[in-house]
Amino acid sequence: MSRQLHAFPGGLQIPTCKEISGKDISILHPLPERLIMPLQQHIGIPSLPVVAVGEKVLKGQVIARASGYVSVPMHASTSGRIIDIGDYPVPHPSELKAPCIVIESDGEDKLFDIRPTREYASVDPKKLQAVIRECGIIGLGGAGFPAHVKLNEGVENAVDTLIINGVECEPYITCDDRLIQEKADYVVAGTRMIRHAVQAKHCVIAVEDDMPAAFAALEKRIDDDIELIQVPTRYPAGGEKQLIQVLTGREVPSGGLPIEIGIVMHNVATAAAVYRAVTRGEPVISRYVTVTGMVEKPRNLQVLLGTTVKDCISACHIETDENYRVILGGPMMGMHVTNPDVPVIKTTNCILVQKNKAPTPEMPCIRCAKCVDACPVNLLPQQLYWYAKADDMEATQSHHIFDCIECGCCSYVCPSNIPLVQYYRYAKSQIAAAERRRNGADHAKARFLARNQRLDREERKKQQDKEKQVSKKESLDKQAYIAAAVERTRARRSKQKNRSVPGMDDKDA
Ligand code: SF4
Ligand code: SF4
Repeated sequence: MSRQLHAFPGGLQIPTCKEISGKDISILHPLPERLIMPLQQHIGIPSLPVVAVGEKVLKGQVIARASGYVSVPMHASTSGRIIDIGDYPVPHPSELKAPCIVIESDGEDKLFDIRPTREYASVDPKKLQAVIRECGIIGLGGAGFPAHVKLNEGVENAVDTLIINGVECEPYITCDDRLIQEKADYVVAGTRMIRHAVQAKHCVIAVEDDMPAAFAALEKRIDDDIELIQVPTRYPAGGEKQLIQVLTGREVPSGGLPIEIGIVMHNVATAAAVYRAVTRGEPVISRYVTVTGMVEKPRNLQVLLGTTVKDCISACHIETDENYRVILGGPMMGMHVTNPDVPVIKTTNCILVQKNKAPTPEMPCIRCAKCVDACPVNLLPQQLYWYAKADDMEATQSHHIFDCIECGCCSYVCPSNIPLVQYYRYAKSQIAAAERRRNGADHAKARFLARNQRLDREERKKQQDKEKQVSKKESLDKQAYIAAAVERTRARRSKQKNRSVPGMDDKDA
C-alpha cells in the first residue's frame, strides 16, 4: 500500500550493527534454578505480593496483584516454591536493591489453569482490556507502560489510527525483528485484537526498511484491513512521536499524548503478547532478548522473566569480568549495569556486552550547535545543558526538558564529549524530587490546616455546649425561681385564709 511518508527533524544515520545478532533463529534459554521477580517491572505502582515464603506456585499463577489503575499483576515464570520476598539488585539506573519475589524452580514447569477468551471479536472492548491487564501486559518495546491504560484511552476517545511499532531503531537490537520473523501470525492476530479493543478506524504496522525478512513475513499474513509500511532507517524513527510524524505528518503536542490526535501506538511484542493472552490465556512470563556485542555467540534468546543477565550472557559464551561492561538496552538509550545478577524483566529487550573503555574527558561547550541539528524534538540541547549545569530547573522546564526523549543524538554528535543526556536526567530527577517535596509539603500543610480546623470545630462545639449548659441552668434557675415565688404566694394566701374570722366569708357572700 502506498502512504506518503514524512521526515522528522534531526535524527542520525548511524551504524545499525544488527547483523551481529539478527541472522540466527532465537533459542529457548534453559530453565534456571532460581528466578528473581521484581515487583516493579512497569511504569506506575509496583505490584503487591499475594504469596508467602514457602508457598508452592505453578507457572502462570498470579504471585503479585496490581495495586492501582496504573499497575499490572505479576505471574510466576515457572512452577516451584517461593523461597524469599525481599530486596535484590534490579535493573535500575540507581543500582539500588528493590523488592522481589524469588522462586526456586521445581524443574517441572507445570502450568497453572489458564483460560483463553474465545471469539474476541464479539467480546466487549472493555472486557478485552481487562483480559490484557490480567495477563500483566505492558509496553514490551521498552517503555513499560501498562497496555490497558493506553487501550482505555482508546475506548474513551475516538481512535483514528492504531500503529503497531516494529521500528527497532536502536543499533544492535534485533529482538523485535526476530519475533516478527518467527511469530508473524501472533503479531498480526494480536494487532487485530488491539484494534478491536480500541475500536480504531485504521491500522498500520510499521517496520524499518532494513528489516526485509520481517516485512515479508508480515506481508504474507496481513489483509486489506492492515497497512504494512516500511519506514526509512534513521535513528530514532521508532520513537513514538517520531514514528507518528513519519507516518502521518502530524505532531503530538508538547507534553501531550498521541490520543490527543486520535492515535494509539503499541509495540509488535505487545501485539504478540495480546494474542497469547486472548487466545491462550497466557500471561507475560517470558520475552525475546537480544544478547550481543562482545559475546562469542550473539543471538536472540527466549528468556523466562527473572532469569539473571549473567545467565543470559553465559548462554552466549562469555563470562563477565571487569574487562567488559554490560548495557541493558541499546548503546544510545540503554542503562549501564555493574551487577550482572540483575534479572531480565518485562522491558529488557537487549543485553549488550562491550569492552570497558576509559571515559573520554568532558570538554567545554564550543557552541557549535551540532546538538541542535541532531535533536529530533526541536529542542535546544546546549541551552538545556547550561541550565541543568547551573541548577536552573525553572529554565530547563521552560525549555521543555520533559519533551526530551533521551535519545542521545545530541551526546553522540557533541565534539566536546559532553554527556548531555546525563545532565537532562539529572535535571528531570531534581524537578521530580522538588515536585515530590512540594506535594509532601502541600500534604503536610493540608494536614496542618485540617488539624487546626478540627481543633477549631471541637473548641466551637465545646463553647456551644457550655453556652447551652449555662442557658439551660439559667432557664432551670428561672423556672425554679418562678415556681418558688408561686409557692410562696400560694402559702401566703393560704395563711391569710386560715387567719380570717369564721362565718365572715358567709357574711361577705
Ligand atoms: S554539540 Fe556540544 S559543543 Fe556543540 S553546542 Fe552542543 S553541547 Fe556545545
Ligand atoms: S536527548 Fe533530548 S535533547 Fe538530546 S537530542 Fe535527544 S531529545 Fe534532543
